[in-house]
Amino acid sequence: MKIRRKARLLTIFGLISLFSILVSTASANDVIVKHDGGRLRGKILKENKRTVTIKTLGGVYTLNKSDISKILRSGSKGDEFKRKWKAVDKYDPDALYRLGKWCDTQNLKDDAKRCYEAALKQDSYHRKSREALGYRKWRGKWVTEEDYKALAEGKVKYKGKWMAPEERDMRKQGYEKDEDGKWLRPEDAMRKREWERMARERKRQEEEDRKARREGRKVKKKPGAEGQPRKRPQADTSWYDDNTSTGSFGTAPEIESKFYKIKTNVKKEYAKRYGTMMDQYYVRFAKVFKPFMPKGQIPKSPIYIYSSQREFMSASGMSQYTGGFYSTGNRRVTAYHGKFGQNGNTRTVLAHEGTHQFQHIVLGGGFGNAPIWIIEGLAVFFESAYYNGKKVEIALVPADRLSNLKRGAAGGTLIPFHDLIRTSQQQFTAYHYAHGWGLIYYMLYGSKDKKTRKKRLKQFTDLLFLAKKRKVQPEDTENVFGGKDKFLKFEEEWKKWVVNLPYDFDPRGS
Ligand SMILES: [Zn+2]
Repeated sequence: MKIRRKARLLTIFGLISLFSILVSTASANDVIVKHDGGRLRGKILKENKRTVTIKTLGGVYTLNKSDISKILRSGSKGDEFKRKWKAVDKYDPDALYRLGKWCDTQNLKDDAKRCYEAALKQDSYHRKSREALGYRKWRGKWVTEEDYKALAEGKVKYKGKWMAPEERDMRKQGYEKDEDGKWLRPEDAMRKREWERMARERKRQEEEDRKARREGRKVKKKPGAEGQPRKRPQADTSWYDDNTSTGSFGTAPEIESKFYKIKTNVKKEYAKRYGTMMDQYYVRFAKVFKPFMPKGQIPKSPIYIYSSQREFMSASGMSQYTGGFYSTGNRRVTAYHGKFGQNGNTRTVLAHEGTHQFQHIVLGGGFGNAPIWIIEGLAVFFESAYYNGKKVEIALVPADRLSNLKRGAAGGTLIPFHDLIRTSQQQFTAYHYAHGWGLIYYMLYGSKDKKTRKKRLKQFTDLLFLAKKRKVQPEDTENVFGGKDKFLKFEEEWKKWVVNLPYDFDPRGS
């Protein structure tokens, strides 16, 4: 019995001491991290210059400070702040400010900010808290340090960013800056995104194909890729790599072809070749636009061709995402000799911009009134011609555009015509261009029946003619087709036709 009693006493004592350790370690979680990675958790009892003594669940240890990499203390300033925060009168901005000041002295930056902001919630004009947060007064209003600087420099805020007023005006017009700080026109910015998206897509596809081959699977063909490649002869593009310059562009000669005045510093034989080519296009344009041709003598249209892309970029201030452009002011096409992007080159650029130049000739002041899907759709139509150095052959199917459309049809992601005809020039993506081309191509060649083709051609030319009188509205397009419902029906026919259109379709044979 005696023995048993003693044992029980011991047990109770043991329980108490264990309990006290648990309590003390739970509330005091100091951690010592040693250089060898070991950790001791408990309560620091003593500390001097050379040693630290800590009481842990396993006992009391004294460590040399030279063995310690760091000490994480509980009951730290953070805990002290929590206590003070609980106690402070949250409706008293002065008290909150004082607590913020205390946080600053303890180097508790986030907590200080919280206090000052709480003070401002009670009194938005609490000057000391404002100043502590870095606000400054600008014309009687509290503004952040950053805003103050911007305002003092005459900057304005646009879409959450400070900028010069001139920059805001550019951005409002849809201009964007690229990585080098160069301005991109809306269509260039669009093209940049498009190219980047295509590059990502190519990379993803290549990775997928590699993986499929590794695993011995068959490489899946994308929908819309059937029927490729076309049997169309490939035009010679090697001359675009010859950027020999005959001298500075400023003093470059102007050569005259039948319909154009071409100023260029490319080799003379290339300049001649461009003249011949553009005359061919001109004859084609004139055929398509026959009913609109103005009476009388038409002056020769100006074209600038720089000998290289670099020269073009520095002279025009354009980015690498511009192959060329048409300026309505001087009615001039500006381009460079060379390749552009994936499939582009001087010919495609001249054909595209030359179409706009010609559209301007036939529409005159009404050029800006024409529906954008016709303006751009036609440009793409001419862009996808074939030139063998002698003749320009139009009406060929641009494989990449048709592939886009076929994929869209397969995935149910074609742009509804209702939206297409309401899309602004700024919002016109490469995908819209493909639709514009497809729509025009269908109107010109979609039917085997000559009468239908004639009717479609008239609808198309009526819309253009209207542009000479006034701005063509989306509803005008619908009306030309006989109303919304008929336009929808037309869209359904078009979709079916897109799915079945072969890549090597040749309207001249039908
Ligand atoms: Zn265009």
